[in-house]
Amino acid sequence: ANFAELGLIAPITNRLKEMEYKTPTPIQAQAIPSVIAGKDLLAGANTGSGKTATFVLPILQKIHQAQQTAKKDKGNFVSALVLVPTRELAKQVADSVKSYAVYFNGAIKSTAVFGGVSANTQMLSLRGGTDVLVATPGRLLDLISSNAIKLDNVDTLVLDEADRMLSLGFTEELAALLALMPHKKQTLLFSATFPEEVRTLTDSLLTTPVEIQL
Ligand code: AMP
Repeated sequence: ANFAELGLIAPITNRLKEMEYKTPTPIQAQAIPSVIAGKDLLAGANTGSGKTATFVLPILQKIHQAQQTAKKDKGNFVSALVLVPTRELAKQVADSVKSYAVYFNGAIKSTAVFGGVSANTQMLSLRGGTDVLVATPGRLLDLISSNAIKLDNVDTLVLDEADRMLSLGFTEELAALLALMPHKKQTLLFSATFPEEVRTLTDSLLTTPVEIQL
């Protein structure tokens, strides 16, 4: 199948053509239609599989379609939250979001927040809210404490590299963040490995997920 046959709309497929993506990778072909359909996803996938586009493209499409029906003020809210274990991954994913979103002509705002740099600039960049927030757990909790962002409107949650997130010791931060989001949301979880701790998390977090193991 090509990208349009997976259910992706023109502003996205045109950009992929421009980026010379010829065919979907296996995880993209298997997961994107279900993610567009609103299902939860449990994916065993490594870096290099094309996992980033697997969650970013349907998220952009969902936000675009929501914008067509309701012109909502973002306030200081976020609608899609991508949690990642490291700042390097946060930057990488945020760059991908910006790149894939080019043909939405600035209508979809994305922001990255992570530790190790001053929080002030990130607080300013969150003013007026953001559509897609890519974040490491600790810094995100700090920014929530200072009222820079609220998770009450999160309708899509991605946990990228969930195994690394837990092995780096983010279990408590993750629990604190989950408690601040609506229970009803679409959740997509990506992990290279599935140790006990990750399975416990997936059991509590995902509702009848589509499961893909590459
Ligand atoms: P990821 O596994 O998400 O880290 O992606 C690995 C690399 O593959 C990134 O540089 C992407 O830009 C690239 N990529 C993702 N999907 C495709 C595709 N369908 N065709 C060609 N390149 C892709």
